[in-house]
Amino acid sequence: MRMNIAVREAPPAIWRLLKVYTQLLLIAFALVPACLIAYLYFAQDPTLKFENHAFHEIAIAAATLEGFFVTYVTWTCYRSSGEPLLRWLTLGFLGFVLIYALHGAFTGLAHHNMWLFLLYGPASRLVMSILLFVGLLSYHRPPERVEKRSNARDWTMWLGFFVLVDIAVAYVANSAIAGSLMVRLSMEGGALVFSILNVMTLMLRRIRSPLMVIYGISITWFALSSLAFILGRPWNHMWWLAHAIFAAGFFLLSYGVVAAFRTTRSFSTIYSQEELTARLAEAMARTESALQELQHTNQKLERLAATDPLTGAANRRQFIESVEAEITRAKRGGAPFSLLALDLDNFKAINDSYGHQIGDEVLRRFVQTCLEAIRPYDGFARVGGEEFMVLLPQSLLEAARTIGERVRVAIARSAFEAGIGRLVEVTVSIGVSQFGHDGDTIDTLLRVADERLYRAKHQGRNCVVAA
Ligand code: GH3
Ligand code: MG
Ligand code: MG
Repeated sequence: MRMNIAVREAPPAIWRLLKVYTQLLLIAFALVPACLIAYLYFAQDPTLKFENHAFHEIAIAAATLEGFFVTYVTWTCYRSSGEPLLRWLTLGFLGFVLIYALHGAFTGLAHHNMWLFLLYGPASRLVMSILLFVGLLSYHRPPERVEKRSNARDWTMWLGFFVLVDIAVAYVANSAIAGSLMVRLSMEGGALVFSILNVMTLMLRRIRSPLMVIYGISITWFALSSLAFILGRPWNHMWWLAHAIFAAGFFLLSYGVVAAFRTTRSFSTIYSQEELTARLAEAMARTESALQELQHTNQKLERLAATDPLTGAANRRQFIESVEAEITRAKRGGAPFSLLALDLDNFKAINDSYGHQIGDEVLRRFVQTCLEAIRPYDGFARVGGEEFMVLLPQSLLEAARTIGERVRVAIARSAFEAGIGRLVEVTVSIGVSQFGHDGDTIDTLLRVADERLYRAKHQGRNCVVAA
């Protein structure tokens, strides 16, 4: 299977252009809420109101459930990867939910105690934006220790802190300064400033992993929602738009969290598509070369399994396979074939007089001489210690006997000087059998060839018996 990947064949200028284009698109997408805000600001009557308490309550109840769910998923990612950013994201979401829920819960007080109703909104966004900013600052830190990840005391302390913020907001809402613009502005403005700082840090540190791009867009939307809240008044359309922008940012960020959950459980180790493609291409090249190496080794193993290490001739197993294939061919109407069974004469005596090493050398030379004497397409194998067989395709008994005779003579003439001052001489006895004439199974053919070889030994050795 081959895949067409990592196509870098377009001119570099086009690549640069595409990169810039993608970046502009992302920036434009991040700023879409700004257009909506400008539209409402300039084209709408700011006194128009939509005061619907039930709708507000239901929306915030849904947001609270969603918030808990996303907190849980983020926390699971954090426990798995230990990435510090995810710890702060978990805390950011949790803090937001625990404070923002009261904004929904006090909707009914909108007229009796307006500040108690209103202040939980900016407070929740301020807490979240600070925690997310701290999170970004810890972006490149190594994963946290496993014990720290599920330290119950730590998490309980944070829960306590969020409850304290809840109480503090209630206190401020009931105090004399509640109504001052400064209180609301400092909270909403604080959220705006921390979100902007967050995005700027992201850009300055050139953090570009795909999930961090999503993170950056979400934070931009949080900043713009704070801006819309500052420009809006309770129940007017800018105020509702601010809710919607914040919700959209939250959904987008939760998309990133879920993507992390479904992959590496981390925000930093999700690679860009380009990087993924490069990694894939690399992995495929490695697999391909490993496969080739494996094939190579397999071929080598097959060869080893089929040959005799001393002489390099085929072994018995390989020979039997060749004969079986030849039988099939002959039965399908091919020309009959013959077999030669060879056994060195008095080989034990050679070992006894010259030693085992010389005996081995005799065997190697014997194989060479035989291979030179037979035809290139004949099969040759060592089937025992000093026993060999030849497969002669398309040969009747008489032709086989002639080849056997040629082999016998060649061996008889091939005495060699083994460095011992004397010529080492060896002869061979040969039995012949023919498919069809002597049988048509491998067992019979081998048995007949062996019987004739035995007779050759009895007739005084160094001869060929074919009948
Ligand atoms: P015959 O003519 O009746 O075949 O006599 P022989 O001595 O050849 O017969 P035998 O079967 O008694 O002896 C075969 C000898 O071959 C015995 C064994 O030591 C020797 N032999 C078998 N394999 C090897 C080998 O790999 N290397 C060496 N050097 N000798 C071997
Ligand atoms: Mg022998
Ligand atoms: Mg023998």
